[in-house]
Amino acid sequence: MKIIDGKLTAATIRQELKEKIDKLKLEGKNVPGLVTILVGDNPASEVYVSSKIKACSEIGIRSKAEKLPSDISEEELLNLVQKYNEDINYHGILVQLPLPGHISEDKVIEAISPQKDVDGFHPISIGNLVIGKDTFVSCTPAGIHELFKRYNIETKGKHVVVVGRSNIVGKPIANIMLQKKDYANSIVTVCHSAAKELSYYTKQADILIAAMGSAEFIKGNMVKDGVVVIDVGINRIEDPMKPKGYRLVGDVDFDEVSPKASFITPVPGGVGPMTIAMLMSNTLKAFERYGE
Ligand code: NDP
Repeated sequence: MKIIDGKLTAATIRQELKEKIDKLKLEGKNVPGLVTILVGDNPASEVYVSSKIKACSEIGIRSKAEKLPSDISEEELLNLVQKYNEDINYHGILVQLPLPGHISEDKVIEAISPQKDVDGFHPISIGNLVIGKDTFVSCTPAGIHELFKRYNIETKGKHVVVVGRSNIVGKPIANIMLQKKDYANSIVTVCHSAAKELSYYTKQADILIAAMGSAEFIKGNMVKDGVVVIDVGINRIEDPMKPKGYRLVGDVDFDEVSPKASFITPVPGGVGPMTIAMLMSNTLKAFERYGE
């Protein structure tokens, strides 16, 4: 069994991006810029945004953090997005979700210029992904695909079983793996909560991607020997032995499943760190494609 070290891989990617941006600076060129927009004071969202800003500063991406009160109107937020659509200093716009209930997330996502859609949530980006055009791919699925590449995991003709059909993980990763390209070209099954007997599907997986948000749900008897396991889940479970009183676990019971797996991502330190690395990569891509 081999551990897929997402933390190390993400650090390598960030270093590669930093070298590209250092080169731009040496040549006296403009550098990529990312604006993050946070509405309200959801503590988890604040942590996510600050890690994104920190990553930008480490690799040399210009960043700006817009923080807005939770009672901002939808119209004001849409106007701000429009302002950054037109600002040539910012090549990527990230609106941190979730938004307060009175604001339509769909409207806000659709207001972001597809050229600056570094989160890959815009319907145009998703449509391009489905028809196999090069586009901005949402960061967590893009990170999973990158792990297959970097660990040289054979995916062609393999049966990939995805558990979860969300728009940000399950559906995009299923579409990536379906494409006729390297480190994809797989036979894909997507499961969701209507599956009567989930293990019927998971046992057939050569590659299992668990993105269900249910702590340690996938047990050893639900997978076959040699399976490649990508555990996307991030769940808190109580643990009085930990200073914070909880610890993070995935959707996969690591102790039971890892002895049967050929490759497996741990939680934390697997898929999670890849998400921010791919956001940085998407921001550089937006700059290279559309920046000046
Ligand atoms: P959602 O809650 O949006 O989707 C969960 C999906 O899992 C749904 O499609 C649901 O089915 C399905 N599901 C839930 N329970 C079962 C079950 N018992 N059997 C089969 N299918 C089931 O979650 P997300 O996709 O946003 O996130 C999934 C997990 O990944 C979470 O733990 C989240 O924290 C984590 N995550 C991690 C990221 C990272 O950077 N590592 C980034 C994003 C998410 P249905 O559609 O029928 O409800």
